[in-house]
Amino acid sequence: MERYLLSISMGRNGFFCPYVRETGIIKKSLTKEDMMTLHDDAGQDRSAPDSPPLDPPALAETLDAKLESLDLAGRLSLAAELGHAVFTTSLGIEDQVIAAAIGTHRLPVEVSTLETGRLFKETVDLIGETEERYGITIRRFVPEQDDVDAYAAQYGLNGFYDSVEARHACCHVRKLKPLAKALAGADVWITGLRRGQSGNRASTPFAEYDAERNLIKINPLADWDIETIRAHVAAEAIPVNPLHARGYPSIGCEPCTRAIKPGEPERAGRWWWENDEKRECGLHVPDNHVPESAAQPVAQAS
Ligand code: SF4
Repeated sequence: MERYLLSISMGRNGFFCPYVRETGIIKKSLTKEDMMTLHDDAGQDRSAPDSPPLDPPALAETLDAKLESLDLAGRLSLAAELGHAVFTTSLGIEDQVIAAAIGTHRLPVEVSTLETGRLFKETVDLIGETEERYGITIRRFVPEQDDVDAYAAQYGLNGFYDSVEARHACCHVRKLKPLAKALAGADVWITGLRRGQSGNRASTPFAEYDAERNLIKINPLADWDIETIRAHVAAEAIPVNPLHARGYPSIGCEPCTRAIKPGEPERAGRWWWENDEKRECGLHVPDNHVPESAAQPVAQAS
């Protein structure tokens, strides 16, 4: 049986991490030559046992070029080859496509979700339905009750409507801190980000180095448009959130998500009361808007 050896370093432990592939879907997508070019594309000889490791940014750049040529299953397989891979799902339509692929191909990827405590019932119900349908376990990460209580004491339970600062502080407690737990120990973070979701995401790469979290972030659907996503979901009968059919293309927490009007951008229903067109929750975009005063009081409460 042919075996492929891929040596990389994520920089986390400061030494080579060898990954050996014997069988599976990656064999259909990647030839031995493909695997070696992951090394060679970076201009470094990977065959020598004492060759220096690829630094994470160089690895991400090389992966970005490689992933473009693969199909979804191939992209996910390659991501899973790199180390401990965690896929975080919000149960949105893109994420359901990825969850279905992970379950269908039995890929060694941990699937996690952030149960913020403010999700739509439809979203919560879809977690269990997806687990059952694809035989996967979706790990739930919840906010710390002390943090939630401290937030409510300072801003009010729904204080996020009052200011951007208060909104970011809520996202910090209910999303960012649980996300840090979900990604603890991960080498690779798989997301459902797409370039077509918003202007803010228009340059989403297939692979990038997340320096803040020191991991490789893989966006296997970066180049899929919404029509392709919908066609795939229909063809594969993938379960999706019923809210999509009611005008919610992008679904987050219930109090912060509304249906969009015809012609509005996909993410127009998220934090709609804010004027900043680049509004995000900080999971995927550096949170330049969060003043220290917004995050600190609650962060100190944990
Ligand atoms: S989306 Fe809204 S409810 Fe959810 S964490 Fe952010 S501010 Fe809080």
